[in-house]
Amino acid sequence: MNARQRSAHRQKLLRLRAATLAADPARIEPNRRDPVSTGVADEDAQALSEMLQVLASQRNRGQAEMLGRIDRALARLAAEPDDFGLCEECEEPIPPRRLEVMPWALRCAPCQARTEPRLGVPRRKITDYR
Ligand SMILES: [Zn+2]
Repeated sequence: MNARQRSAHRQKLLRLRAATLAADPARIEPNRRDPVSTGVADEDAQALSEMLQVLASQRNRGQAEMLGRIDRALARLAAEPDDFGLCEECEEPIPPRRLEVMPWALRCAPCQARTEPRLGVPRRKITDYR
């Protein structure tokens, strides 16, 4: 990756970071209910509320993980510009197509699969592993 490509890649990561930060964090609705309005009929609503809370916290965690990945890639780009684009495990070039769709990727797909095996999920696409 040459200096111009690195600069473009950095811009892409920064845009992605801004977009991730701008994404509305999922709101977690308060679980408490007014005791006067709580009745048997509200049990379904309560279950739904709890399910929505679980979904919201999973979404927030996903956003934090994405920011972590982007920040790691930006840090590597700044610290080791010459090595950026090489897999941090096997040091082979990461396929440009993978970097294009996953600009935060620091490993090639096979190395990522070895470090984070997802059992039972067959790998089909270059984007299946992050
Ligand atoms: Zn590798």
